[in-house]
Order: sequence, then C-alpha cells, then structure tokens
Amino acid sequence: MIDLFLQNNPDIKLYEKSVIEDGGAIFFMISDGLRKFLVIQSGTGTLVQEMFHGEMLEIGGNNFLKSPLSAENAAALRERFAFSRPVLIGKMNSYGLGDRLGNAGAAHLKAIRKTTFMPVLAQQSIRELQRTGRTAQEVIDAATWAVFREGYRDGYGADGDHLKTPEDIDLMADAGYTMFTIDPSEFVVNEAIHMNRSELETELEKLPWDDLGNTPDIFKDQYFGLKAELADGFVLSPSEPEILAGMVKYGRVITHTKMMSDYLHQSYPDHPAELELSVDETDQPTTVFEHYLVASELNRLNVELVSLAPRFCGDFEKGIDFKGDLEQFKKEYRQHLAIAEKFGGYKLSIHSGSDKFSVYEAIGSLNKGAVHVKTAGTSYLEALRSVAEADPPLFREILDYSKSRFETDKKTYHISCDLRKVPDGKAMPDHELKKLLDDDNVRQVLHVTFGSVLNGPERDINRFKERLMECLNRNEQLYENNLETHFDRHLEPFIKTDL
Ligand SMILES: [Zn+2]
Repeated sequence: MIDLFLQNNPDIKLYEKSVIEDGGAIFFMISDGLRKFLVIQSGTGTLVQEMFHGEMLEIGGNNFLKSPLSAENAAALRERFAFSRPVLIGKMNSYGLGDRLGNAGAAHLKAIRKTTFMPVLAQQSIRELQRTGRTAQEVIDAATWAVFREGYRDGYGADGDHLKTPEDIDLMADAGYTMFTIDPSEFVVNEAIHMNRSELETELEKLPWDDLGNTPDIFKDQYFGLKAELADGFVLSPSEPEILAGMVKYGRVITHTKMMSDYLHQSYPDHPAELELSVDETDQPTTVFEHYLVASELNRLNVELVSLAPRFCGDFEKGIDFKGDLEQFKKEYRQHLAIAEKFGGYKLSIHSGSDKFSVYEAIGSLNKGAVHVKTAGTSYLEALRSVAEADPPLFREILDYSKSRFETDKKTYHISCDLRKVPDGKAMPDHELKKLLDDDNVRQVLHVTFGSVLNGPERDINRFKERLMECLNRNEQLYENNLETHFDRHLEPFIKTDL
C-alpha cells in the first residue's frame, strides 16, 4: 500500500522506521524535502482517519490522509499511540536533549538508542521558551514527531526545567511534561558564609519554622554533633557554625521546594510527575554538608526527588568543556553520590552538561550511581556547523549578527568568551568555516545569542529562523549525521565503563 503512495509521489522520502499498522490502518511519515507529513492509509469507512486532520487523497481505491505535523495531529497521535507520550524515567541513567529548533530529536534518538540511557527529549526552561518564542506544547509536539519518525518505543521523558513559581508548574503540567525541575536559587542566602556566630543565630530564628515543621532548638539538637557515616567510608561531621550557616543559606530553599512539590502533587494528583531540585545556578559550589542538609530536610518533609543538581566545583561554562580541578570534582562527586544514596538513591544531575567531555570521563570511570545530564545549546551549535558546511554565506551572516548581539545577550550566562578572539567570517574561505565551531570563543558567542538569532528584535529583516530551518531541512542527512556523531561523543565515556 505504501508503495502505491510512493509511486504516485516520486519526489518524496519515506521514513521507514515510522511505519506502523494499527486499527486496520497504516501510519507513516514522509518528507517532500522541505516539509514532513504524517500519512494514514486505510480502506473506506474506517474511523482511524477521523482523529486526524489533513488532505484526503484517493489512489487506486485506497484513502490516504496526508496530515501536516500540526499540534492537533500531534495530540491525536499521542492519544492513539502510548509510546508517543512522555513517561516517567525514574532512577535510570538519563540524558536531557534540549532542542531549541525542534528538529534534532530524531538524531538524538539515533545516538541514544545505542546506549542504555533513557532520553529526556523535551527539555525546556522558561527562560529558553521566552528566548526562542516557542510554547511548552510545541516542544512536546516536536518530541512526539521524533519518536514516531524513528519508531522509538522505549519511552521518553519531558522536563520542565528551572521552574520557579506555581504558574511555571501549571504551564508545564498542562502541556504534559512529566519531569519538573524546581529551581529555588533565588532563596539561597549567599551572605551566610560571611556571618559570625551571633548573626547566624539571629538569622536562624527568622526562618519560616512553621513551614519547616520544626523549631530552631529541635533543629540544633538534631544536627549539632552529627556524625553521618555514608557509603564509600565517607564520614560527615560538620561543625556548629557550618551547620548554622548551611541552614541560614538553604532554609528558604527547603521551604520553597516543599511548597512547589506540594503544589504539584495537590493540583495534579493524577499527573505522572517526578521532581528534580536544581541549585546549580548559585554563586558558590554546594558543599557536601549543604547537600546533606537539604536532602535530609526534604526527606523529613516527605519531598521525594528523582534527581538533584548541586552546583559542582570548577566551572561549567556554556558550550565548552569543564574548567577546574578534575580530581577534586571526582572526589566531591563521590561524596555527593554517597548522600544521594542515603536519601533514596536519586540521580545526580549535571546541568550545563553540553560538551563536558572530561566530566563524563570522570563520572564514567567511577562506574557507580545514576546520573542525569542536561544538554541543549550544543545541538544548536551542531545546526550552525551544518549551516557553515551547507550555506557559508548564511553562516557568515549569523556569525556577524551574533557578534553584534553578544554584549547584550550574554548577561544571564556563565561564560568567559573574549569577543576580540572571534575571527571574521568574511576573511575565511568556505571550507574553513565549519572549524569555527571547534573554537571555544566562537562557540560561546553563538551559544548565548540563539534567542536573538531565532526570535530577536531584527527577526523580520534577517529572517534567520526561516532560512536556518530551510537549510537544515534541505540538508537533513548532513545535519543529523553531525548531531549523531556529536552525541556519540557525549555518550561514549559512560558506555565504555558500562555505567
Ligand atoms: Zn540548570
């Protein structure tokens, strides 16, 4: 039957892995080189096609419904096929595969299915939604089409990243997200480490003890003199000032997380939901005791975590490898793991996880515990690498524009790029351009300006997004090969040691 359709449409490409028979109909995905469609073939009078919208074509006595990849059709697909809905991932190793353009999912799946990692295909922070001008729903829809196209049936997660308010939770729950990453970093009191004992005692009294379900005196009884024996022979025995400073610094982080968790579970009792806590975007690294304290208090308050993202030592800058002392990272990572193990065995989550190859090696070599890695910007950079190869003039334009936006756009990002070291694209021959994507300065300039390129103030003049998407559609094979190779590099350090 599909052959019949293909014979009548000689210029289209069939995605062979997408073909699935269900309810007397055959579903498959095609591309005409620029756009993709879902096609549903069935005999006359079957009900399946009524769930979907599109153009009905009759070929040789068969009905073919040619449906655009619209929001309506994505919702119908999720209703029809359980494998196309986001699911809970639990404590299995997992990889967050943020996709700012909405066309990287299939290549992500090609890389991930060679491993035992579970994919979190839709991963979207509120900040990124604003910058890309996309909706939370569009991000899930893109993941839905990717799993369908690749015939991926093993389940994928959807992560509402860096959620700060109950409204953020509503937005993500309504769109069908299953992983909720709570970011209480605004409540971290960084000054605590500079306070003296009496200042700490004063601040401790001011914490919201009702919400903590505790009193300062009982708290002190519980923690003063603590000697926690953890896995790996690791013993934690914090001093009294350390305990006071830890609670002053993180007390409201704990109550805010508890509030967000209660809100999620009470507002959406039947919604599949798993919770990550992220404190990665704070000024100072999370000490091992601070991690212990937060985990222990959340445990006491019945907040269950699937993963926790500490702010690790060293620098996790955007789009480039880790900078810092790897041995220290490894030592602290083991200690963080021992704490995670004590409080339920949640995963450690690595934010700003793009391109941290030496960190993957370090974690892979430990060969213990479960991990979640979040990436996003690196896939956008692979898209630009593909543009540099396929359409050098467009790439030069984007590079120029990104340079002009850099000083404004870099503000909320952790980077160290020197704009003066970014070469002039116009001075370089076409075949050299793609090498720019291996230059740390260029990577960071391109990484932080994606919002302006895709959805910025001059979008009508530049039309970068349309031109970029068209280029990638026309050069799908090149783009997806670049992505797959790049993610193989992200995943191999873990596989080697069979984490
Ligand atoms: Zn983060």
